[in-house]
Amino acid sequence: CGIVGYIGQREAFSVVIKGLKRLEYRGYDSAGVMLFDGFDLKVSKTKGKVSDLEEKSKSMSQTGTIGMGHTRWATHGVPNDVNSHPHLSNSGELAIIHNGIIENYEPLKKELIKRGYTFSSDTDTEVLVNLIEEVQKNEKCKLGKAVQIALNQVVGAYAICVFDTKKPDEIVAARLGSPLAIGIGTDEFFIASDASPFIEYTSNAIYLEDEEMAIVRLHKPLRIRKIKDDALVDPYVQELQM
Ligand code: GLU
Repeated sequence: CGIVGYIGQREAFSVVIKGLKRLEYRGYDSAGVMLFDGFDLKVSKTKGKVSDLEEKSKSMSQTGTIGMGHTRWATHGVPNDVNSHPHLSNSGELAIIHNGIIENYEPLKKELIKRGYTFSSDTDTEVLVNLIEEVQKNEKCKLGKAVQIALNQVVGAYAICVFDTKKPDEIVAARLGSPLAIGIGTDEFFIASDASPFIEYTSNAIYLEDEEMAIVRLHKPLRIRKIKDDALVDPYVQELQM
């Protein structure tokens, strides 16, 4: 299973698809991609291979300089198109990709259903993206804060990327128990399960530690915080050997 995120000046689609192919060795049963072109959030996902995803995505507009891609190894919900990631929140404004397991998704899901949320997939992941949306609504906070508050209610393991159409220059990434690397380019960022999807674009990388989250914003310094106590972490940038 794997994660690839891109925010920058390039067309994100090919960066994401190429990246997902490099992560295929990790194993998966489905694949999906999300693009944002400044107006529309476009999602394409399918059971099967990344090459099947490429084929399916031919019917979708492939423009957009922000993108997130995912290969899924199903834990909750059978491998099918609907259960594939990305998952959107009920408003359609938030998108998430997730590797890992939200162990306490059942009580969280029950509570969200009580509050009027509906679910189209059987995944634990769709619970998390709606939990983030509910926090945003209640706390009237920014995406990063909402992700942090939501993750503090979660038991489990994760590497996630979250995108909010209301803040289209930003991806929020977080990890606990699943790897996540951030590639730092000039006016562009890459997020991936390992450095292989972005090694050809930049040799500067930060590896998130467990219980850390990153606010990845265009033209802004990268902010890394501890999920639990909000402490700022000094980013340690590694020079990758090309
Ligand atoms: N638990 C999530 C699901 O079943 C993510 C699985 C993964 O790591 O790919 O959809």
